[in-house]
Order: sequence, then C-alpha cells, then structure tokens
Amino acid sequence: MNEYIIEHIKEIETRINKACEAYDRDSNDVKLLMATKTVSPEKILKAFETGHVLIAENRIQELRQKFEALNPARPNQHFIGHLQTNKIKELLRYNVTCLHSLDRPELGQKLQEHLEREEKTLEVLLQVNTSAEQSKFGVTPDEALSLAKSVAKLPNLKIKGLMTIGLFSAEDHKVEACFKRLKAVQSTLVSAQIPGVSMGELSMGMSGDLELAIKHGATIIRVGTAIFGKRDLPDSFYWNEQI
Ligand SMILES: *Cc1c(COP(=O)(O)O)cnc(C)c1O
Repeated sequence: MNEYIIEHIKEIETRINKACEAYDRDSNDVKLLMATKTVSPEKILKAFETGHVLIAENRIQELRQKFEALNPARPNQHFIGHLQTNKIKELLRYNVTCLHSLDRPELGQKLQEHLEREEKTLEVLLQVNTSAEQSKFGVTPDEALSLAKSVAKLPNLKIKGLMTIGLFSAEDHKVEACFKRLKAVQSTLVSAQIPGVSMGELSMGMSGDLELAIKHGATIIRVGTAIFGKRDLPDSFYWNEQI
C-alpha cells in the first residue's frame, strides 16, 4: 500500500535532476523537503523508505499528533507555517531543527527567550513576501535587511537564508519574478555582511514551480501534493490561519 508515494518521489528526483541539468546547477545543492500537512504518519514513513527524511509541518497541532509515530525514524523536522508566539514552547518540544517562517522581530525575540531558557539553538530562514499578496505572510523585500539585523543580535537563533512562496500563476515570468526577488534580497543581505548571518539557503519552489525555483537558485524545494496527492483542505487554511 501507498507504493505510489515512492513512485512520486522518484518522479520528483527526476524533475530535480533535469532542472539541475538544464540550469547548470549541482543536484547535490538542492534538498527535497516533503511538506506533510494533512498527511498521515503511515504515508510519511512510506516516503522515508526512499531515504528522504526532511519533512515540514505548517501547524503545531500536526507536529504534536505525528511526533510519537515519526520520531523513532529520526526525521529532520522543519516548520514552514505561520508561528504564533504562544506555540513556541511546543515547537521546541518536537525537535524542529529549522523554522522557515521567521517573519517579524517580536517572534525572533520570543524564540530567543525560550531557546536561552532551554539552552538550545534554532536555525531560521527569514520569510519574504515576494508576491505582494495580502494573504501571504513574510516581510517585504525592503524590510528583510532590517529583520536580518534585528534577528542577528539574538545569539540562539542562526539565520541560514531566506524562504518565499511564489505567486500561483500559469505565467512563468510572474512566478520567476518572485524567485528573482528572493535572490536579489539574498544578494543585498550578503553584501551587508551582518556578523553571524549566513545566506546559503533559499527555500523556494513547490510541486508546481520547482523547476523555476531551481533555475533561480533554490537550495530547498518544498513538495507536498506531487508526492502525497491532493489535500482536502485549501492552502488558505494553512496560510491565513491565526490559531
Ligand atoms: C503546503 C506547502 C508547500 C507544498 O505545496 P505543494 O503545492 O503541495 O507542493 C510548500 N510550502 C509551504 C509553505 C506549504 O504550506
């Protein structure tokens, strides 16, 4: 059962390799992160059989529900959803190694307080809204420098790069514009030479646009639907929820 998941992951590997060939990228520089929202532990464990163990949830509730079943398989657990400050404690409980959605200085501040208390560190990516859609979280490209400077002062947070969600559009050039914006923000922040800030990771590209993201420098692509199938809940449920 669930063998289709293995087939789908092979297909994604092929897409990654083809895109890397086409755009002169090294496929070792592109990590596949599996977006597991709404996906059962059984299906996620099936996906692990391929050797891919980098996964991410959008909601603390799902992290909690799946933790016991998945933890023995030693996943590399990231978090890609909007994070409320009152959920930080729980986030840290479930061995999350990287938060892709750091989008405001206050969240950084609160994370720092908890991490310090628990003597932990956390890798973070700064989420940038490159499509200017109201519905999406993230700082504007112009605000990214100031967010980076403020988070860089927090010793238990390690900035590793940037994350964005591209525009949903059938027109490639509009999607690519988003990825180019993230790349431009990366260049700006590299030039700023903020102590302790690394800009190595660009988390961008999903089931529908991973090739375009690879073209523009993605190092982490986040794939859900193309591996696990269509979800029952609309993405707006995850991207706008304030719970
Ligand atoms: C769900 C989700 C993805 C994966 O999207 P698919 O289109 O299903 O591949 C990627 N990034 C974020 C932030 C998500 O919430």
